[in-house]
Amino acid sequence: MDEIIKEIQKLKEDRNAVILSHNYQLPEIQDIADYVGDSLGLARKGAESKADVIVMCGVKFMAETASILSPDRNVLMPDAEAGCPMANMITAANIRNLRLTHPAAPCVAYVNTSAEVKAEANICCTSSNAVEIVNSIDAEEILFVPDKYLGQYVQSKTDKKLILWNGFCPTHVKIQPEDIMRQRKDHPKAKVLVHPECTPLVTSIADAVLSTGGMLEYAQKNPCKEFIIGTETGIIHQLSKQNPGKLFYPATNLAVCPNMKRTTLPKLLSCLQNMETEIKVPQDIRRKAARSIERMLEI
Ligand code: SF4
Repeated sequence: MDEIIKEIQKLKEDRNAVILSHNYQLPEIQDIADYVGDSLGLARKGAESKADVIVMCGVKFMAETASILSPDRNVLMPDAEAGCPMANMITAANIRNLRLTHPAAPCVAYVNTSAEVKAEANICCTSSNAVEIVNSIDAEEILFVPDKYLGQYVQSKTDKKLILWNGFCPTHVKIQPEDIMRQRKDHPKAKVLVHPECTPLVTSIADAVLSTGGMLEYAQKNPCKEFIIGTETGIIHQLSKQNPGKLFYPATNLAVCPNMKRTTLPKLLSCLQNMETEIKVPQDIRRKAARSIERMLEI
């Protein structure tokens, strides 16, 4: 493995590449990356860097978002088959159909969507700013896609009426209230942090409902020494690295996203050797999708 790591590091220099890893990637991918973070944070890091090549270790919509924000760079994915089942639950045509029955409702699209869906939406949101984005919109009724659980969480925090799409993250729905209760019994002093992609039964019994970035910040600032983590288990690596001496328990070991685990060191090496697979968003889609992202960043 050491040889592969050395070769990746050498090729990274030769290609003037930056390696970005999502918080849910395998530990060895997180460790070799220049930046580890959430999807929007990574896309912004890629855009800020001086690299010619952006290697996105994550799922496809993340590479698309990086390409939208950095159209002149070469955006590569080590495994182009790594998709996001939740992002695939909605299409641009689905939004156009929704607009027929709700013509006055602007559409908010979670960043976990394809470039086409972002292009069709009015504005994007992340799991950390969704409530703020929804509240900033001058309309009573808003289409919110694709995650119904994030949507239900936002609905509990706003007076606007959200029209939800029936999408969900298959990994986060594996986290059940019984898992939280069992872990709480075993670790009575631990704080329970869960992601808003979890079901309302889970979010309602947590100490805090946070994005991945929010969890990392909370764990650093909170004096508590033990945490039960209700999101994809990959983040435990980053939480443990950043907080030596604190303990992090996954709510359940079943919360593993198989798509996030498709990226391996040999695939990362081959990606840099062969400069494949490039992810490019067509210009017309890119321009519209960038507008939805920029509107969010303005707020
Ligand atoms: S964890 Fe869920 S939302 Fe994230 S990439 Fe996997 S399926 Fe998609």
